[in-house]
Amino acid sequence: MNEPFAPQYDPSTIEAPLYRQWTDAGLFTADPDREAQPYVVQMPPPNVTAVLHVGHGLNNTVQDVLVRFERMRGRDTLWLPGTDHAGIATQNVVERLLAKEGRTRFDLGRMAFEERVWAYVKETGGVILEQLRALGASCDWTRTYFTLDPDMSRAVREVFVRLYEKGLIYRGNYIINWCPRCLTALSNEEAEKEEVAGKIWYLRYPLADGTGHVTVATTRPETMLGDTGVAVNPDDERYEAMVGKLIALPLTGREIPIVADDAVEAEFGTGAVKVTPAHDPTDFEIGQRQMLHTIDVMTPEARMAETVPEAFQGLDRYEARKRVVAAFEELGLLEKVEDHTHAVGHCYRCNTVIEPRLSEQWFVKMAPLARPALEAYRDGRLRFIPERRGEEYAQWMENIRDWCISRQLWWGHRIPVWYCDGCGQTIVSRQDVVRCDCGHAVRQDEDVLDTWFSSWLVPFSSLGWPDGTKDLRAFYPGSVLVTAPEILFFWVARMVMAGCEFMNDIPFHTVYLHGTVRDTQHRKMSKSLGNGIDPLEVVEKFGADALRYTLVSGMSVGTDVILDPNDLETSFGPGRNFANKLWNAGRFILTNLGDAPVRKVSALKPKELTLADRWIIARCDATIREATEAYERFRLNDAAAAVYRFLWSDLADWYIELIKPRLYGDVPGGDVARAIALKTFDVALRLLHPIMPFITEALWQRIPGRREGSWLAVAPWPTPDNRATDAAAVRQFGLVQELVGAIRQIRAEYDVQPGKTVRAMVQHPGAGTRDAVTAEAGTVRRLARLSDLTFDDASEGVGGYAVLSDGTGVFVPLGDAIDVARECERLGTELARLEQLIASQEKKLGNEQFVSRAPAAVVENERTKLASWKEQAGALRDKRAKLGCA
Ligand SMILES: [Zn+2]
Ligand SMILES: [Zn+2]
Repeated sequence: MNEPFAPQYDPSTIEAPLYRQWTDAGLFTADPDREAQPYVVQMPPPNVTAVLHVGHGLNNTVQDVLVRFERMRGRDTLWLPGTDHAGIATQNVVERLLAKEGRTRFDLGRMAFEERVWAYVKETGGVILEQLRALGASCDWTRTYFTLDPDMSRAVREVFVRLYEKGLIYRGNYIINWCPRCLTALSNEEAEKEEVAGKIWYLRYPLADGTGHVTVATTRPETMLGDTGVAVNPDDERYEAMVGKLIALPLTGREIPIVADDAVEAEFGTGAVKVTPAHDPTDFEIGQRQMLHTIDVMTPEARMAETVPEAFQGLDRYEARKRVVAAFEELGLLEKVEDHTHAVGHCYRCNTVIEPRLSEQWFVKMAPLARPALEAYRDGRLRFIPERRGEEYAQWMENIRDWCISRQLWWGHRIPVWYCDGCGQTIVSRQDVVRCDCGHAVRQDEDVLDTWFSSWLVPFSSLGWPDGTKDLRAFYPGSVLVTAPEILFFWVARMVMAGCEFMNDIPFHTVYLHGTVRDTQHRKMSKSLGNGIDPLEVVEKFGADALRYTLVSGMSVGTDVILDPNDLETSFGPGRNFANKLWNAGRFILTNLGDAPVRKVSALKPKELTLADRWIIARCDATIREATEAYERFRLNDAAAAVYRFLWSDLADWYIELIKPRLYGDVPGGDVARAIALKTFDVALRLLHPIMPFITEALWQRIPGRREGSWLAVAPWPTPDNRATDAAAVRQFGLVQELVGAIRQIRAEYDVQPGKTVRAMVQHPGAGTRDAVTAEAGTVRRLARLSDLTFDDASEGVGGYAVLSDGTGVFVPLGDAIDVARECERLGTELARLEQLIASQEKKLGNEQFVSRAPAAVVENERTKLASWKEQAGALRDKRAKLGCA
């Protein structure tokens, strides 16, 4: 039933149909009733509007490799996919579309806007899940979720209400990170710190009694319009007499007090700080302690509000900054200005500079949730790969801040809180509330929850929680979480906390944080830099296997993956070549089996086996051990390298080459060679399947004797066999390989034409070498193109000589293989040319004027050239001596 064996590997005709067959056969669907031990991986849910980029490509390839490996080891695997509604990101996309129509979300109103986003998501969302199929991702699509699904939303409300009832969710006025473009609060993690070259302005604040002034330093002078105090350290003698006095705050006509507060460091700056409680977190705390007023001087759009003097009202914050500084200068109150580089928070979505702003928001009290999550790490239940990431996790947990969870957006889970304007009650409820107990109608909180407030629950909400479903019992806790380091705190740490709080157990025991894909200049790949690689374009051109192999072989634990976008023009890293070689090897083995039934390798008798047979069986066994251990330890590049070496070098370059005479019937033992080639090839396909699933399955489907309807994707993982360990065979065959290599080297060195045969004399063979060479004499003769292979210690005429690692010598007489006279002449001409070059170079470097006037680097370069020429001339003289040239 097999199609004819295509001479060239063409992934485009193989991959998509195979993927459909796998899913039709239900191979990726987990079964909670199965006896097998589960292996559960939660996919980091991509944004619903996302399009697959190379970062997703790497992340999902790693997950798929681990899942396929464990599936073949017999585990009941569940790789759970889903998409995230991505509140701020998705809302921004739709708002940009509206802007093109000249409208804002406020023109539409909340209901219509939400409908618009839903329509957009239904039309374009989830594309990324389709794209993951092209990559070969073996997810359980029957369990796909979306974080705004009714089930997931129910879990979100349940969690909100439980935390509120426990006193862990509260509402309060705090300084939060505000994005004036997105018009929403952001968590600390969403306000990305970036170094910015700015200035620091030293402003003089006159005392109201006219007895002097205090100098304060600020990076945001416009906020002085909202100052309500100046603070100094209580122990600072310079200001002792001033504490309690009033400042006549310039430009405002207001008087503000000088207060003493421990938060001020006397050594820092001038020792006196301006206090703006509405626009700075530290100032807010000082303000609370010192009972200072709070004046909010900015609108949500970061323009100056009506609380400031009329001249500044309505100005953009940066324009206001200029004018405030100019006004101070004019008043003679600008002491100095210094350049100053400092870290400024930027919106992680639109990169606008964050404005710290006082506002009323909902928060989760994190310290009680962090305690068990930190303990799980400290007592070794939760581990990180690479290990150092664990310490970052621990530090974050130890210094955890409360989590601002309300967002001033319309797209997301609306906060389940209702306010009654009749009796003033606040109602927090699992169900929608229409009317208060007092009979008055209620209004729901306008805000939605942070996107991460639903994704931190997915390890159990995706399995049916809060109901005690069969899935939840079978598949919680999960096994491994695979993610990029960027979302360690956003997502990973919070999932651990939620797991401890709501499931009483951590959601996974291992967190594997892989590197980032970068270009050859170590820049992160991005659309704006134009250095990206579109994984789907690679799949289309070279196949998913090529992409996967190149990604996996280029990564090692704790390092980044470097790709060259230029590779896309010709090939794609090593993956494509490997796929072609594998296809050709498979094609040769599978089409040269003949019709005779294949014997079982386990039934072969030891005396039937040649040295090469014993060697390949031992190498196959060693590769099973090596690859299995590498997969288990997340060293996927090592697993790839082990299988590559076995398939490319041991099997294709050596074993298949040297069994050809047996397979063609020129010498006996064809059935043995056939059985071993097939068995070791089958094993190699299994070991490689997690990394290159398509080509391995396509080849495996052609292996004779396979049960109809069986799949490599669920075939058993090979187990090592102690009887196969055969150190003697590996050592002896290694010497045979060395011998062939040495003769080939000599042939190349003396330019022996490929069609010509030579003779080789093995001299003073080491222990065991004589037996090994004798056993594989035919192989050596064929692969090294020998007319004669003898054991003979005598030297004879001219020729090449080499010594193997065990001390065995090999002499290759060249008198009859090359025209010695012509070779001598050729080498002589070459030598004469070099000697001329050397002479003129020596003259040049002997010239005082050149050496003293030319730049040192130039002289150095000329000296290096001379040394290299001299070395080459020496080698030519050696060769001529060996050939006995006149
Ligand atoms: Zn923003
Ligand atoms: Zn009421």
